[in-house]
Amino acid sequence: MAGDTPYPTALTVADFQRNLAQVRARIQAACERVGRDPAQVRLLPVSKTVEEARIRLAYAAGCRELGENKPQEADRKWEAMGDLADLRWVVIGHLQTNKAKLVARCASEFQALDSPRVAEALDRRLQALGRGLDVLVQVNTSGEASKFGLAPEEVAGFLKQLPAYSSLRVRGLMTLAVLSADAARVRPCFGRLRTLREHLRQTAPAGIVLDELSMGMSGDFTLAIEEGATTVRVGQAIFGARALPDHHYWPESSSDRESTA
Ligand SMILES: *Cc1c(COP(=O)(O)O)cnc(C)c1O
Repeated sequence: MAGDTPYPTALTVADFQRNLAQVRARIQAACERVGRDPAQVRLLPVSKTVEEARIRLAYAAGCRELGENKPQEADRKWEAMGDLADLRWVVIGHLQTNKAKLVARCASEFQALDSPRVAEALDRRLQALGRGLDVLVQVNTSGEASKFGLAPEEVAGFLKQLPAYSSLRVRGLMTLAVLSADAARVRPCFGRLRTLREHLRQTAPAGIVLDELSMGMSGDFTLAIEEGATTVRVGQAIFGARALPDHHYWPESSSDRESTA
């Protein structure tokens, strides 16, 4: 994605400060275009594949929360950087029930909740640890079989089941748009999540909060902000280009998916 955009690798604290300032300036400009307050948009830096030494530089540049796609990687880094006590780890990728234990112990927030089985497994692990967890429900707004997340029409029913899991604090919705450089295809995905949120607010059970719309990444976060994003998840524009292709994180065919039925 965004193959024409060079994302230089940040190798010093000053590099991180520059990249963060550039991303924040673009957040501000996008907010101004649509009359939004930039203070209402949270920048979540995504550190997947980035090694510990550079993560520590990002921390020195001011990052206090980091998104990780894979539970094992999040847990490994959380353990290795336990000395950075005020650093929050946010898991933003698909979770299998057999990894719920990792997320329950290392994460401050989980943005990819998409099945009752995962909700149940997470809640059980969290209860055992005496912890609560902020969660977002992942919605598939692109209709692509390769994307995780619930179909929009499944979300209302799913939300009704969540009050049973008392350690999960539902805060909102998350999505990935279609991976395309064509704004005309990307923007409607974001609009769909916002519209869905407005509908769901009318029927959501008590205690289910839908304030958060986590949407937008390096290649499309300005569009997402114009469509109402409250959190943007930005990796490459802060850390530098990743060598691994995106389909390492989003399997290309639905046959690669773990069944979430
Ligand atoms: C990697 C990732 C991002 C960030 O993507 P970049 O292109 O690095 O900005 C956002 N969301 C999820 C779920 C991701 O896995």
